[in-house]
Amino acid sequence: MSIANNLNKIKNTLPEHVILVAVSKTKPISDLMEAYNAGQRIFGENKIQEMTDKYEKMPKDIQWHMIGHVQTNKVKYMAPYVSLIHGVDSFKLLKEINKQAAKNNRIINCLLQIHIAEEETKFGLDETELDEMLKQIQHDKETFRNIKIAGLMGMATFTENQNQIKKEFLRLKSIFDKLNTEHFKLNTLSMGMSGDYELAISCGSTMVRIGSSIFGNRNYQ
Ligand SMILES: *Cc1c(COP(=O)(O)O)cnc(C)c1O
Repeated sequence: MSIANNLNKIKNTLPEHVILVAVSKTKPISDLMEAYNAGQRIFGENKIQEMTDKYEKMPKDIQWHMIGHVQTNKVKYMAPYVSLIHGVDSFKLLKEINKQAAKNNRIINCLLQIHIAEEETKFGLDETELDEMLKQIQHDKETFRNIKIAGLMGMATFTENQNQIKKEFLRLKSIFDKLNTEHFKLNTLSMGMSGDYELAISCGSTMVRIGSSIFGNRNYQ
């Protein structure tokens, strides 16, 4: 199967309201261009350096999403062009994004990453930290005018147990719904990858991040 075929097959199964992020980390530009030529305009990367290299070499109508863990000191390299940052998991990081966005005269869209998995290793905020952060942002709206909290992102536990994954996705969806009734107008719920995106969509995902089902398995050296 070619990249274009994989892409079209997935796009045909997605409901209209679900946005597809093609996760192209570790893949060469020729692969990304194949997806681009098949109509894909949103790409997800998890390393700022790699994303910036690709941004510089590729057509300018692409939206670049940072889906990985972000180090505060590297925000400045993507601030001029990044379209959505999925993994915002600390107030310190959010402040830096706001600062760099202001320097570039932009508003940068952010998703707050929520810890829903059982594993200790996955990044993200717990519900108390989330509430704390939202309070601080609301309290200081004037300062935070260069960021927009567009929604939430989460990653389920790496397991074969569909019930467990479903439980975690539903938890994230309920946090999302609760915030929408309380303070915020969030429109994006980023959850679901190659192995679990159909389940994620059935649990309310509005944005799926799919890599290997489009580009094939990744080769880490
Ligand atoms: C790599 C990655 C993906 C894509 O994973 P696949 O299983 O290849 O679809 C999605 N989200 C995040 C945060 C990732 O790091």
